Amino acid sequence: MNLLRLAIVAALTAAPLAAQSAVPTPASILGYAPGVDRHLPTWKQITTYFQAVERTSPRVQVHVLGKTNQGRPFLAVFISDSATLKHLDRYQMIQRKLMNPLLRGKNELESLLNAGKNIILITSAIHSTEPGGFTTPLVLTDRLARADTPEARAILANTIIILVPSQNPDGVDIVGDWYRSTLGTKAEGTSPPVIYNQYVGHDDNRDWYAFTQPETRYTVDSLYTPWDPEIVNDIHQQGSNAGRIFIPPYMDPLDPNIDPILTAGTNSLGMAIGWRMIAEGKTGVAYNAAYDQWSPARQYSLYHRGVRILTETASVELATPIDIPFSSLGAARGYEAKTVTWNFPALWPGGHWTYGDIVDYQVSASWALLNQAARDRRAWLESYAALGDRAIAADHPWTHDSIPAAYIIPRSQRDPQAVQRLVWTLQHGQVEVRSATTPVSANGTTYPAGSYVVLTSQPMGGYANSLLERQNYPNLHEYPGGPPIRPYDVTAQTLPLLFGVDIAAVPVAPTASAAPIVPAEEPRYTVPGLSDHSAKRVAIYRSYNAPMDEGWTRWMFDVNRIPFTSIVDKDVRAGNLNARFDVIILPDERAAQIASGPRSGGRGGGAGPVYPDSLLGGLGTAGAAGLQSFVENGGTLLAFNGASDYAVETLKLPVKNVLAGVRNTEFYAPGSILAVDIRRDSPLASSMTAPVPAVWFENGPAFEITDSTRATAIATYPASGNVLLSGWLLGGSKLNGKAAMVDVAVGKGHAVLYGFRPQYRGQSMATQPLIWGAILR
Ligand SMILES: [Zn+2]
Repeated sequence: MNLLRLAIVAALTAAPLAAQSAVPTPASILGYAPGVDRHLPTWKQITTYFQAVERTSPRVQVHVLGKTNQGRPFLAVFISDSATLKHLDRYQMIQRKLMNPLLRGKNELESLLNAGKNIILITSAIHSTEPGGFTTPLVLTDRLARADTPEARAILANTIIILVPSQNPDGVDIVGDWYRSTLGTKAEGTSPPVIYNQYVGHDDNRDWYAFTQPETRYTVDSLYTPWDPEIVNDIHQQGSNAGRIFIPPYMDPLDPNIDPILTAGTNSLGMAIGWRMIAEGKTGVAYNAAYDQWSPARQYSLYHRGVRILTETASVELATPIDIPFSSLGAARGYEAKTVTWNFPALWPGGHWTYGDIVDYQVSASWALLNQAARDRRAWLESYAALGDRAIAADHPWTHDSIPAAYIIPRSQRDPQAVQRLVWTLQHGQVEVRSATTPVSANGTTYPAGSYVVLTSQPMGGYANSLLERQNYPNLHEYPGGPPIRPYDVTAQTLPLLFGVDIAAVPVAPTASAAPIVPAEEPRYTVPGLSDHSAKRVAIYRSYNAPMDEGWTRWMFDVNRIPFTSIVDKDVRAGNLNARFDVIILPDERAAQIASGPRSGGRGGGAGPVYPDSLLGGLGTAGAAGLQSFVENGGTLLAFNGASDYAVETLKLPVKNVLAGVRNTEFYAPGSILAVDIRRDSPLASSMTAPVPAVWFENGPAFEITDSTRATAIATYPASGNVLLSGWLLGGSKLNGKAAMVDVAVGKGHAVLYGFRPQYRGQSMATQPLIWGAILR
């Protein structure tokens, strides 16, 4: 099926041959050299460039994988020798056989190792305020299409490069249009006041196991699933004030479900890249810093046979240069930019730093990667084939963690949408799901024949285990008794808890169908009483701070086909909200940001550029008064996570956040799944069906009710014992008996406070009924 899909895409984008001397330069298409100050390319220009190269170079094939959320073409560019590109289907078959030992003949391995190419996926510019990422691919393609050095020819001969010039094409124009409109104003160089992806903004790089967005699915379905590349190069930018580029090794912790071959391969390749860059005279190269190796949310390849080389180059203000004196360089996680250490061996002297410098560093890093991948082609393929044998082996001697032999998922559960979504999600990430042929007994329960079975010894068994197990994040502190070392992102991803699905881990594999079951359809999500019609008039507040949770909230409404209206500061300040809405939602955002709006659009808290006055001020006193009168006159205000603090302060609610001002040495939960007891007799909670009620807690508040005649706890942390279900929690006893969700009567209306993220990244569907219940009451 994957071969067929690729063949169709290839047939739609035939590549005529022509003399390579006619290959156009990026500058001839853009009208300026890529990386020149203050000039960002549009997606149309980038698309035009790749199409023009495809027409003139037999080494480049452009595939359109689909349309983005906003209708732009999503591109994948295949680059290799012309003879290789003519037979992509053959190389894909070799790759599949190297990946899965069950697909290859008894003595076939040696010929596969001789004939195969090292497959490199370059995913660039998933984050659109990191514009080096959508510029560097043009320079790399130009070099490879010309192939006028022995090194370039060796790369083409030994590898197949699959280049995604932007993992988020919409953002190229959202950011670029904003940048061009602000050039020469005090806002030049600011990030746009909206998220740069239709729904998810920066979180587009947290979608690599939930697959909620079409852009994620194109890369997974059309590139990862058919190819499972040996190496992935993910091109990003970081802050400006420390090193010039980060290259792996990553920091601890690492997920024990990742095969150590991939960790070692990542470390080795990263060090080789830095070695070459430093030999070229580049400075400010940092290893083993900032970024950890914990979660599949952004590291899909590490669970799918590919090492992941993340590079993070120091930013400018979009395409506007900056000056940073050496004296103002500072510490990053893992090193200090004024001190030579083993993982930061060459100081950057400070000074002028430009968009062109970013492109130069990114091209240099990617070229070093490609060169190494070409030189060691056979070693990469050997280690890739070894990964396949290890994945289907019964034991994993490199870890002491006990891994269950299988997970059982009963077919018949209270929320069939959630079960279907779980099976779809697993299968979408190449997990094989089977069907039990006899009843299975586990933990005192007998699951009927026909239950879903997920074996952990299977090609993507480590990935399956990471999504189904409960995470045990290590206790990492700066020093004994000191503050926790914050994780790079969050600490848990247990899908059965997030989706609200019953599941059992079993130590012995049950009897199950030999072949995996056919792929499940994604469910058509439906909320009774809300989907496809408007029982209630709902507004979602959109702050100019552009919080991603606002986008995720809209996504949740759209995917369930529930109408809503987006409102901004001036709508709330204008008041008379009851005439337009029954329910207003404040997505997760810090209280001060809601009240006061953007502090500044740029880096460095006011030192850099600032937004136009029309975007400043937040809800202010007029907005607060508008919300107060809305609720008193019968409206319902829903406040998610951080926004709860705003609602408590603004509406003077009889509720106290017991975690306010508590130090992280006393309490810490940076993104974990916690147990709650649900008040089932409340109409707000009556449709919640999760077998293990759990909330996504992420630096949120926890509530104590100070007037129980007005406020009711709808969800409460257990009165005693451990409230942690998955992830990391320090000082959990502070939560015992405290409320996680509170319904407060205000005048004729209600304020509903969620001390968690009830629709976290489109994943915590177990707690979405707590939103629908509050809207529909
Ligand atoms: Zn990034």
